[in-house]
Amino acid sequence: MKEEIKEQFNFIDKIKSINEGKNLKYNIFTMGCQLNENDSEKIAGMLEKMGYTVTNNVNQADIAIFNTCCVRENAEDKLFGKIGEMKKLKERNGTIIAIGGCMMQEKHIVEKLHNSYPYVDIIFGTHTMHKLPEDIFKVLENRRKVEDIINIDGEIYEGLPIKRTDNSKASVTIMYGCNNFCTYCIVPYVRGRERSRKKEDILNEIKQLAEEGYKEITLLGQNVNSYNGGENYGFAELLRDVNKIDKIEKIRFISPHPKDFSIDVINAIKDCEKVSKIIHLPLQSGSSNVLKKMNRHYTKEQYLELVEKMKKLIPNVVFSTDIIVGFPEETEEDFKDTLDVVKKVEFEQVFMFIYSRRVGTPADRMENQIPEEIKHERFNRLKELVESQIESNNKKYIGTIQKILVEGKSKNNSNMLTGRTDSNKVVVFEGNDELINTTINVKILSQHMWYLKGEIIDS
Ligand code: SF4
Repeated sequence: MKEEIKEQFNFIDKIKSINEGKNLKYNIFTMGCQLNENDSEKIAGMLEKMGYTVTNNVNQADIAIFNTCCVRENAEDKLFGKIGEMKKLKERNGTIIAIGGCMMQEKHIVEKLHNSYPYVDIIFGTHTMHKLPEDIFKVLENRRKVEDIINIDGEIYEGLPIKRTDNSKASVTIMYGCNNFCTYCIVPYVRGRERSRKKEDILNEIKQLAEEGYKEITLLGQNVNSYNGGENYGFAELLRDVNKIDKIEKIRFISPHPKDFSIDVINAIKDCEKVSKIIHLPLQSGSSNVLKKMNRHYTKEQYLELVEKMKKLIPNVVFSTDIIVGFPEETEEDFKDTLDVVKKVEFEQVFMFIYSRRVGTPADRMENQIPEEIKHERFNRLKELVESQIESNNKKYIGTIQKILVEGKSKNNSNMLTGRTDSNKVVVFEGNDELINTTINVKILSQHMWYLKGEIIDS
């Protein structure tokens, strides 16, 4: 364990003795992607070691953490709305307010926090999250504000405590940062360049999770198929090694980049029986013109060729994707190319986004930004196509038997259990709570837009 982390454990112990017998609570508000959620699990892990326990009600929190994301424009409004609401709470209860994550790497956001929200206690960035115990200690001891942001690429810190939110599925970050600089994306500016964790650290973490009873692992990174675990050890090798770990039943990963999808990775997906056969392959646009302006390094044709190659080599492979509608200068013809790819690939799931400008990115400075009404009109046409495809695609599940890891009770109906097919479709069915975290066979009886309904045929 690095000295810096040992030092943080000392701060954790000091805070724990300050907090002794006070029954203090924490609340974490997490924005954005699974990587951020994984970071929040580490923040929760540190807070629990300091003697705080979780509350879902921020009004009862002694410390409120906001783990921010800056990928979407409306995230800023959302954050400032939430921080505004904290003022009264701060005055009434003295709640410690800490804001961290990607948005804190943006200068204009930090300035706004200083000017308009002076009651915020701690501001920390993406490279200093591991120092949260020290930051909290300074606030408790000296009652002074702390700003802890660095702009150089952070190191990888192993050994932080973690409090996972789920008992059957776990996310494991395999790399940090991104080198791709897609022109619409702020991530490389706020998360820095790519840094891969050591393969031993990843594999040991997963072995530990397997021992703790976790059955499904999602490998996380901004660009997982650029994973670099040393000489001749890339993402394909990592998938093969994770596949060998006993008691892990399902392996998923998010997100790969189409330009880095090597034949080695395709073969590893084919050969590894635990690796899910749904591939998330972010398209972003179906137009080669737009893809060039996005700096994505593939064309429409190359994307479709890759899909065909995978369909040929990996039995039963299916795809999900991300699409941005209304990128600057996107013409009607460009948009039709996107619809064309959607028709051809028949994705199982499409995460659709309306392009939103991010300060500091090249796309924000491009001329010919698309008017909002055109963006929305295109978005609705894409949504209509995607939904009609999903509806007809879901029908193919009816009558099939799906192996499902039971994740828990359905959020919408606590009398039902829920899990996912290999292709990541939500399935709900009746069953006893004892089945949670076991793998069972479910026969699909009916399809609905966002889920399938089934019945257990054995257990
Ligand atoms: S690959 Fe592109 S979209 Fe993904 S994080 Fe990197 S820059 Fe952003």
